[in-house]
Amino acid sequence: MSGALIELRGVTRRYSQGQDTALDGIDLTIDRGEFVAIVGQSGAGKSTLLNVLGLLDLADGGEYVIDGIDTRELGEEQRDRLRAQVFGFVFQDSFVLPGESVSRNVALPLRMRGASPPVQVESVTRALDRFDMLHTADQTAGTLSGGERQRVAFARAVAGDPLVVLADEPTGNLDSRNTARVMDHLAHLNADGTTVVIVTHSAEVARAARRTVTISDGRIESDVVTGPRRRPPARRDGGLAAPSRPRRSGWRIGDALSALLLSPLRTLTMLAAFVIAIAGLVTAVNMSATAADQISEKLSAAALDEVTILLNDPDGRAEELESVRGIDGVVSAGTKVLVAGTDSQPHRTVGTRTVSADSPVVAIDRGFLAVGGVTTSPTHAAELIDAEDGTPVAILGHGAAEKLGIANDRVGDTIVLAGQEVLVAGFIRSAERDAALPHTILVSLADFTVPRGSDSRIVIRTAPGLPAKVAEALPLALDPVQPGNVIVQTVADLRRLTTGVNADLAVNVLVISSVLLVLVCLTSSVSMFLTVLSRTREIALRRAVGATRSDIRFLFLLEGSLLGLAGGIAGLAVGIAATTTLSMTLGWVPTFDLGGALVAVAAGTLAGALSAVLPAIRAARLEPALALRGT
Ligand code: ADP
Repeated sequence: MSGALIELRGVTRRYSQGQDTALDGIDLTIDRGEFVAIVGQSGAGKSTLLNVLGLLDLADGGEYVIDGIDTRELGEEQRDRLRAQVFGFVFQDSFVLPGESVSRNVALPLRMRGASPPVQVESVTRALDRFDMLHTADQTAGTLSGGERQRVAFARAVAGDPLVVLADEPTGNLDSRNTARVMDHLAHLNADGTTVVIVTHSAEVARAARRTVTISDGRIESDVVTGPRRRPPARRDGGLAAPSRPRRSGWRIGDALSALLLSPLRTLTMLAAFVIAIAGLVTAVNMSATAADQISEKLSAAALDEVTILLNDPDGRAEELESVRGIDGVVSAGTKVLVAGTDSQPHRTVGTRTVSADSPVVAIDRGFLAVGGVTTSPTHAAELIDAEDGTPVAILGHGAAEKLGIANDRVGDTIVLAGQEVLVAGFIRSAERDAALPHTILVSLADFTVPRGSDSRIVIRTAPGLPAKVAEALPLALDPVQPGNVIVQTVADLRRLTTGVNADLAVNVLVISSVLLVLVCLTSSVSMFLTVLSRTREIALRRAVGATRSDIRFLFLLEGSLLGLAGGIAGLAVGIAATTTLSMTLGWVPTFDLGGALVAVAAGTLAGALSAVLPAIRAARLEPALALRGT
């Protein structure tokens, strides 16, 4: 193996857009411990050469060997690793991340290569000390002066202990005092064994180097040794290890979080969008669960033991009731005929005055009172219902009595229902199973002529839990010839219906929330895309110090996912608060769907990650050489 660290043979670089060849057959060998200045006119190809040397750009032709490793044989990721291992970069613009602390800036290459925190602290301290910047370690990099930033950039370049420092016009933006200082540091660095290659316009800066390579039109015009080469210290003589994957990748979470925290306004805006969408999702799911529980609870008492049959012919009811009562599991059965309001016209004549009421009128038998758990006052009024003595009697709910102007518990008045005179025999004292009864007028079916076409039903109370079984047995018991004619309803059917309605509601709400989430996804994607554009230099810098394309992709995906996760958790909290408040306003007990909560957080994270996909791809495509030039 030759002592050469870097060997270029016949290297060319042509830009497809450009007319000229930026590099045209460059042969250049640089040994360990050299201090080389590359000089030449503007546009001569100096930066291109430096980028090719630093593996930030690829030659179109020729050979490039680093310490015996032929770079043409390496894959992109291996080149990225090799770059981080061999080179430290300093650019004309110092490219510090202005929002980050000086020490985090300097630690960037170490994080990218997965160094452990203690190693990072030690290397950063050493590097900052070397450039007299240790006192600024905790300062925000953006607050430093230009000269200080450039020294931080040098500290960053050497923190990873590279074999070669490549500097592109590092003093271009500095005054003479700071230039002298930087050159002094560079000389020390070289004295310690680091190979230094510097591109410069300045003859004075070039004089500090020990060899000057002059470029013109992409070719080497002259190559002059101007001073003795330092003997590299022994530790620099070891061969390069094959570029390998870093072991730790914990930096990504830290860097992703840091990027989010460094632009709080943007992060908060995107977060708010996620929170709103997820909170909507959570509230929707929980409110529909709450509503379903409320409805089920109200229905369950009745649903457990009630069955209804629609009667085609009310006159045949006695026989049917008989059959019903014979079925196993039936506790009580009765008849209920709803008299339509247009027919019933309840009223009472008081002197010359007519008092009307719009109360519903239901013709019943005594069995109905048993099914509905209705008690009357006086108690014996119930017995008059089935009297069949030619005088229809009424039992009034208190609401209905009030409308008819009948004082509390005064029996003996006559009212008119569907044109028939009816004697008020009593009042409904309690009706535990039917909240509408206190406003209803019950009339004895036995002596009352029901208008044709009224809705007639047999209502049945079963032993608890048996309505389905009873409902099944009813058709055959009532009409063995045509059981299909018997229409049976259980409240359980109604309950199934409610669940169906709730499911529809939940689906609607879910669709709306999902659309909202997709919109949020799109907006946050656009927002993140724009961030990528404003972060090109940061991305290029990460690439320069060793991040691979997949590292960059991962970083952005992680930023998106973290944002979505935070939005998911915050949205869940807001959603739970909203459900609680809404339920309390409605007087309901809120129901929380735990599975839904997990799904909401997962949906937030996924949406965040999805919104970062395109920006991540865009960021990973970035060519560092171009981005660092600011094109
Ligand atoms: P120097 O650093 O010596 O000023 P450069 O290496 O920047 O020179 O450029 C060398 C030549 O390559 C110039 O003619 C320049 O216009 C051209 N060039 C550099 N970068 C690009 C690019 N990205 N696309 C097209 N042409 C480029």
